[in-house]
Amino acid sequence: MDGAADPSAMADGAAAGAAGMSAPPGPGGAPAPGAARTAARLLRGAPLAAAIRAEVAREAEALCAALGSPPALAVVRVGDDPATAVYLQRVLENCRQVGIEGRLVALDADVHPDRVADAVGRLSADERVAGILVGQPLPPTIALDAVLRRLDPAKDIDGIHPLSAGMLALGRDGFVPATAEAAVEILVRSGIELAGRRAVVVGRSNVVGKPAALLLLRRHATVTICHSRTADLAAETRRAEILIVAAGRPGLVGADMVAPGAVVVDVGINVVDGRIVGDVDERAAEVASAITPVPGGVGPLTNAILLTHLVRAACAQAGSRGLPLPSRAALEVPA
Ligand code: NAD
Repeated sequence: MDGAADPSAMADGAAAGAAGMSAPPGPGGAPAPGAARTAARLLRGAPLAAAIRAEVAREAEALCAALGSPPALAVVRVGDDPATAVYLQRVLENCRQVGIEGRLVALDADVHPDRVADAVGRLSADERVAGILVGQPLPPTIALDAVLRRLDPAKDIDGIHPLSAGMLALGRDGFVPATAEAAVEILVRSGIELAGRRAVVVGRSNVVGKPAALLLLRRHATVTICHSRTADLAAETRRAEILIVAAGRPGLVGADMVAPGAVVVDVGINVVDGRIVGDVDERAAEVASAITPVPGGVGPLTNAILLTHLVRAACAQAGSRGLPLPSRAALEVPA
């Protein structure tokens, strides 16, 4: 079933959840015995991503016409971690599709750490490059901090610079890690109310869990962050009306850990027996009112959101250099 599915096909709790009404769990948060179980509404990222990419393509074209060259995104890949390589390759393909120039700087895993920092420094100084994406995880020999010291925060389109993190924490405009933004945007764009709702985020990494929690807070949810030392994870997740899971542990959240009618965003990407699976057990779809599929949920949206950041960065940099801008160039992700 797609995100635009017939609401009448949802269970009562599901319809209430999707409409933004409170759908309280049963006693203790467990599904009520004998409660009707219906498939959750699937929150798919691809249709949302396609709409965003179309908008970005228009903006990139306008920027190119105004500035005389397409905006450029530089991707820095260190080593050959297969998952990182696939992700970065996809980003470059997406750039091509929307008229953004994608540049790959590929360095060997055993490169001297200074060379990575130097590469980022050169790209930061290059006026043709509007945004820089550093593939993570970096090999253990490369200190992220040293790389960040050379990254121009104005080009930090994936929000990894401490300045970007600080801006987010202060509730000010800045670049937010694209995955965290995608995890929250998929809810917003699916019409799910966040203000005043109990949200639980599983995972506290700087790139997903923590920024996702701050974004939920910005949208007035009441937020709990869980992590590897949370004493009773199930008790926390069962209280969630909105549950975002980003732990990288397949099956960490079972169906019995999801409150009936809850909305679940599964950010996890894990390969199990050659299949890509999330962190949430597939049977949670029988309990939740809405859930993101894996694959096909947050992932596609992440890439599209990264492109909006690139266009925003290009506009800001052109503006600060006094260059003429296309009239609609200040691209904001439409809510
Ligand atoms: P990470 O390893 O940096 O962080 C994992 C977090 O999960 C940690 O904060 C840890 O405390 C928590 N955690 C681990 N085990 C736990 C447990 N048993 N109980 C509670 N919390 C636990 O990972 P990350 O970079 O934040 O990525 C998380 C997941 O998101 C991974 O599966 C990753 O592949 C996926 N991811 C998806 C996208 C996307 O676009 N969909 C992008 C980036 C990462």
